[in-house]
Amino acid sequence: MHTDAALDAIHDLVDANHVLVRREILDAFGHVSVRHPESPETFLISRNLAPGLVTDHDIQVTALDGTTTDMRPSYLERFLHAEIYRARPDVHAVVHSHSASMVPFSISRTPLRAVWHMAGFLGDAVPVFEIRDTVGAGSDLLIRDAALGARLADVLGDTAVALMRGHGFVAVGGSVPQAVARAVYADLNARAQATAIQLLGDYTALTIEEGEAAAEANDGQLGRAWETWRAEAGRSRTRRACE
Ligand code: MN
Repeated sequence: MHTDAALDAIHDLVDANHVLVRREILDAFGHVSVRHPESPETFLISRNLAPGLVTDHDIQVTALDGTTTDMRPSYLERFLHAEIYRARPDVHAVVHSHSASMVPFSISRTPLRAVWHMAGFLGDAVPVFEIRDTVGAGSDLLIRDAALGARLADVLGDTAVALMRGHGFVAVGGSVPQAVARAVYADLNARAQATAIQLLGDYTALTIEEGEAAAEANDGQLGRAWETWRAEAGRSRTRRACE
């Protein structure tokens, strides 16, 4: 019932779940999705399941209003994926993580910036979504509905990564490997920047031009990272070997 293109997307998505667990971007929580390659008004995402347990059989086709015909429970925060896909036609994959390395930059006045050539895509200051601006100070911080998802997408704007205050972050890309690489390298950039601040209290960030040039160079090498991480997560397989 799925086409070859959809099966390829499902396989990439399942692999991404395992890669992101292996790289410690996801644990029992967080999720990753991919826009449906043939039905761009829908996206593919696991049912409500820990990412490390996701298989091909757990993937739900979800519409941009957050609904699915799959009767199994869905992720509560699927609206953040839906609203980013709605706002950003260029985005084909979304990662949402609670990484503890990123959170400090969501709760302090120190902006997360590109300080490392592998994270040039971060630019000069990663935007921070403040949920209190929308629902006040009593929320559980979760993106529970389309309105909150749309507000997060507004804050993300046309950037690659947005922090979510006291919660985590989203990373987006034009492909699954690009979104995964952005999540992995944003997290490592955050660790490097925090370490530099501890050492010196100050640090040298990339210029905007350096960041853009580094991002372009690294995007040309995405396949190397993706194949390495899939192998490391035990996910090396020929295309559609599991049909
Ligand atoms: Mn979350």
